[in-house]
Amino acid sequence: MKRSKDTFKLNCQYRIVPDKQQVYQLNEWLYKLCRIHNLMLEERFNWWEFNRNSVNACPIFITHLPELKDQPTYYSQKRATHWSRETYKYLYEGVHSQVIQEAIKRVEDTFNRFIKGDLNGKRSGKPRFKSVRRYRTFTIPQLKPDCLSVTTNPHRRKNGGTRRDIAYISLPKVGQVKLIYHRPIPEGFTIKAALVSRRADGWYICLTLEDKSVPSLKSPEIEATQENSLGLDVGLEKFWTASDGEIELIQQHYRKSESKLVKLANRKDKKPHKSAQARKLAKKISKHHQRLQRKRKQFHYESATKLVSRDEQVFFVEDIKPGNLSRKNKPKQDENGKYIPNGQSAKSGLNKSINDAGWGQFLSIIAYKAAKAGKSVVKVKPHNTSQICSCCNRLVEKDLSVRIHHCLCGLILDRDWNAAINIKRVGLGIFPTIKRRKRRSKAATKEAYTVPLGSV
Ligand SMILES: [Zn+2]
Repeated sequence: MKRSKDTFKLNCQYRIVPDKQQVYQLNEWLYKLCRIHNLMLEERFNWWEFNRNSVNACPIFITHLPELKDQPTYYSQKRATHWSRETYKYLYEGVHSQVIQEAIKRVEDTFNRFIKGDLNGKRSGKPRFKSVRRYRTFTIPQLKPDCLSVTTNPHRRKNGGTRRDIAYISLPKVGQVKLIYHRPIPEGFTIKAALVSRRADGWYICLTLEDKSVPSLKSPEIEATQENSLGLDVGLEKFWTASDGEIELIQQHYRKSESKLVKLANRKDKKPHKSAQARKLAKKISKHHQRLQRKRKQFHYESATKLVSRDEQVFFVEDIKPGNLSRKNKPKQDENGKYIPNGQSAKSGLNKSINDAGWGQFLSIIAYKAAKAGKSVVKVKPHNTSQICSCCNRLVEKDLSVRIHHCLCGLILDRDWNAAINIKRVGLGIFPTIKRRKRRSKAATKEAYTVPLGSV
């Protein structure tokens, strides 16, 4: 679901069944768009390399500043006078012009996020050149309101029941494509745009629907109190722990099927490269991953529904960035330039579990579910919430292996439960702020407050 200023938008996903000719055409589009993507990116990288100079590496007074090139923009790249138009004319033929424009827009967006950062100034990683296999989606920004035609199926089932309606969607330059109309489009909505993607098990279309009469869905402003709010702590052991002690256990889908995936991968590696057997096994593996992804998503929806159907109105969650958590460790080198252990192998194991949990997806699902139910989800900063005692505000330092919070005041609580209570307190504004301790005093505090592992 997207939020815009004044209208309510909704995304609906359907499976489409293009015929042989259409599959050929869609694949060709993706191939061409991928090439265009890479060309545009290359042009931007060239500009970037040519026009920058690291200030700390060479003093500015001896650096020769070359004449600045014009920065490639969305408009310059879109224009017909562009250099690639002459040389790569064949790439532009046959593809709908608006679809090409959207692909170029995508390059612009990723590149801007790379050099400027998003609204909050957070910069993302260097955009990648894509291989044809990795380029799987294109956007159709405009569709006619009557592009979808639905007719009732005249045939009956053997038991007398009705069959699913027959639907076709008309895509520009592609024509009528059969669509599995598994759920009707909600009344009052019109189709605005579409996202076509190639997945492991076929083709899908995601329709952006818009209802002009309904204002956009917004989380209401609810004043949080001790009674109507709930703190949530997410973790690797339990999926979440609520501040009242309720827990949801994690479902490690990936971990469970890891050995099966490894076996499949080994079998694939033994086959000759690019052979038919290897391709078949690759398909099998990607289907397996797709299944895992769907299982995870369903679990997230069920878990979010369970939380939202509770009596509480406000949910405080950690403002975490799972992308940052699962980042790779920096390589370490000794004086001779030899690589020394950097703890990555241990981190890789943790990363798998972090990605398996998929908190990012869960947090966006619960925000959406809560808004729909007229409740709100508030993100709070989780600093120190696992370390401070929720009863007496004492600092009890413990590393990840210590699962029980054991405080001098007598409070013995599950570590995650303690953190969930603290997260609720941060949300309510009654959590103590702690200044960063100096390094010297750290050892002293640790000694005073850390409980030896054996006593837990
Ligand atoms: Zn305490």
